[in-house]
Amino acid sequence: MATSPHIRPDLQDVPSYRAGRRAAVDQPGRTYSLASNETIYGPLPGVAEAAATELEQPHRYPDAGVTALVQALADRCNVGPDWIATGTGSVAICQQAIVATCNPGDEVVFAWRSFEAYPIITKLGGAQAVPVPLRPDGTHDLSAMAAAITDRTRVVFLCSPNNPTGPIIASAQLDEFLESVPASVLVVLDEAYYEFALASVADPAELPDGVQLARERINVMALRTFSKAYGLAGLRVGYAVANPALTQALRKAALPFGVSAVAQATALASLQQEQEMRARVSETVRERDRVVEVVKAAGWEIPMPYGNYYWLGLGEQALDFAASCEAAGVTVRAFPGEGVRVSIGEGAANDRVLTVLARDFSR
Ligand SMILES: *Cc1c(COP(=O)(O)O)cnc(C)c1O
Repeated sequence: MATSPHIRPDLQDVPSYRAGRRAAVDQPGRTYSLASNETIYGPLPGVAEAAATELEQPHRYPDAGVTALVQALADRCNVGPDWIATGTGSVAICQQAIVATCNPGDEVVFAWRSFEAYPIITKLGGAQAVPVPLRPDGTHDLSAMAAAITDRTRVVFLCSPNNPTGPIIASAQLDEFLESVPASVLVVLDEAYYEFALASVADPAELPDGVQLARERINVMALRTFSKAYGLAGLRVGYAVANPALTQALRKAALPFGVSAVAQATALASLQQEQEMRARVSETVRERDRVVEVVKAAGWEIPMPYGNYYWLGLGEQALDFAASCEAAGVTVRAFPGEGVRVSIGEGAANDRVLTVLARDFSR
């Protein structure tokens, strides 16, 4: 007789999501988390008040249609509201995209290393992960990715800026790639760090705009999130922009009421603070450029960062480096054998990492 419920045997092959380690409670004298690409600013003005108002009615279900937020996003993106789908963070939308497109054995192509949720949600969906190695400079190898597409391919994830390495996919290369992908294959352009990238480029034309591409191409979906530049990682809300056939499929694959009332209200309030958000993003980008300058001056060649983080290709030293940072009171994100992703945080935290790097890991 069975002694426990049957669990899908293939679940054993699904890695668990590893979140960045949290630092011990922040306090003066203090420890810092540079492990999860969070911003260091508190909520944007008006956001805490919007949350408090929603908390007066916790016994009510949220608006299942997310009406006000969807309308505000549609206005901003210059599309109809049926072009927007929201989700419990954009990671949930990645999963909905797979649920909506893949049958068992279908293939999902993504660069690797990239966002660690891609292989997890692919396998959970019963689909086959097709990881395509990044180039040595941390960029997507788009010709190899195009070559990896078969008649079983249902989804291609593109991550720009790439997490964890940092580079964007350049507009011209992306256009060429999209031209080569059959219209039957969904291309999900994950732009979680779009706002940082926009503040990083000299000419906006260098940076692909997923919203624009989604309007031009029937098989492109742009993913954006409130977790990074808008600072709402704890409240879980992201969105897709794509044509109505695709957003409808996403909605069918979503759990009902996935975006809480507090998330809806705070995202809406955050959208009204565009200018302050951009000021914070610019500050982060300035600080990132300062830090990267020091890293490069120390002899490191690192991939060009466009998000609020940078990549150190430490290889076999990755875990040692993370341990040294932790001893210095800073958590960073190590990928054993590959490298370390370091978020941009408080100046003092960034400096501690630079100190560890110069002291024990010089090039
Ligand atoms: C942080 C991140 C996300 C967004 O996650 P949420 O679920 O919206 O919090 C998506 N993609 C990438 C590449 C990320 O780094």
